Amino acid sequence: MVAPYFGLIRVQSAGFLFLVAAAIFTGGGPSARAELVLERLPENQIQQVKVILQKLAPMIKAREAEETLATLRFDELYAPLAEDERAFVREFQKFDPIKAGIQTHWHGIADGKIELKAVQNQTLRKDGKPFVIPTQYVPPKVYKAYILMMDAMQQDLGKRLYIESAYRSSAYQLYLFLSYLQNHDYSVRETAHWNAFPGYSEHGNPKRQALDFINETAISGEQNSEDFATLEEYQWLLQHGPAYGFELSFPKKDPQGIGFEPWHWRYVGKKARKRGLEEHKNVKNPSKTTKLPPEEAPAA
Ligand SMILES: [Zn+2]
Repeated sequence: MVAPYFGLIRVQSAGFLFLVAAAIFTGGGPSARAELVLERLPENQIQQVKVILQKLAPMIKAREAEETLATLRFDELYAPLAEDERAFVREFQKFDPIKAGIQTHWHGIADGKIELKAVQNQTLRKDGKPFVIPTQYVPPKVYKAYILMMDAMQQDLGKRLYIESAYRSSAYQLYLFLSYLQNHDYSVRETAHWNAFPGYSEHGNPKRQALDFINETAISGEQNSEDFATLEEYQWLLQHGPAYGFELSFPKKDPQGIGFEPWHWRYVGKKARKRGLEEHKNVKNPSKTTKLPPEEAPAA
C-alpha cells in the first residue's frame, strides 16, 4: 500500500483488497477466526446467521415483552448460542467498519447503565389503525429538548414527530446488524451502509444521542429512505432542529459512507448545525483497529 490514495477511494480499495485477502485465506469457510467476507456471505455462513437468529428469537421476544431490549448486554446476547456461533458473532462485534468503506465515529460500547427515560404509549395511525410504538429509552436531557422541539412544531404545523428508536445498547445494535443482513442479501458491505456496527452507533452514545423519527401516519425510512424527506415535518426540522440542539447526522452524499437518513437526528445541544455535513468534511476516523491490543487487531 505505497501508492498515494485519498479519503474514501483509499478506504474502498482497502476494503476490496481485504475482501480478496479474506476470500483467499478463508476459502469462504465459517472458521471461527475467518475474517468477514464483505460481499454476500458464503452460503454456510448465511445458514449460520439464520440458525443464530432462530436461537436468539425467544430471548429477544421476552426482552421485547419486558421492554428491556434496548439495554441488552453482550453476555445475555451470547448466552443462547453455541461456542462456534459465539465466535462467528464476535467477528461482527469486533469488525472495524472502515474495512467496509464506512468512516463513522467510534462512540464506545453502550452497556445500558445510564439514566434513561422510558417513553411509552406513543400512538400513531398505521394503515388507518392505531399503532403503539414499543417503549423507547431516551436520556432525560435529550427527551426534554425533543418535547420542546415538538411543542414548537405542533404550534407551527399542527403535527408532531414520534420516537421510533432512541437509545440502543451495543449488544442490541449487534443483534440488529445480524437481523438486517437478510434485508441486504447478506452483504456485510450493504448492511453496513444502513446499520451501524456495535460501538459505532449514535443510538448508543448519550452525548450524541440519535433519535429516529416517525410521523403520525407512520412514515419513516422503513419502506423507502426518501419518504421521510418529502414530509413538511422534515423541512421544519431542517429549519428549526438546530435551535433545539438537533442536527441531521447523515445528509445526502455524506462522506462517511452512510446512506441518506432524513429521519435520524442526533442531539448535540448548542453545537448543533444546520447542516451536519461540515463537521464530517474533516472527519478523523478514530478507527477501532488502532485501539485494540495487537493480538485482537485484524490482520492487515
Ligand atoms: Zn438511527
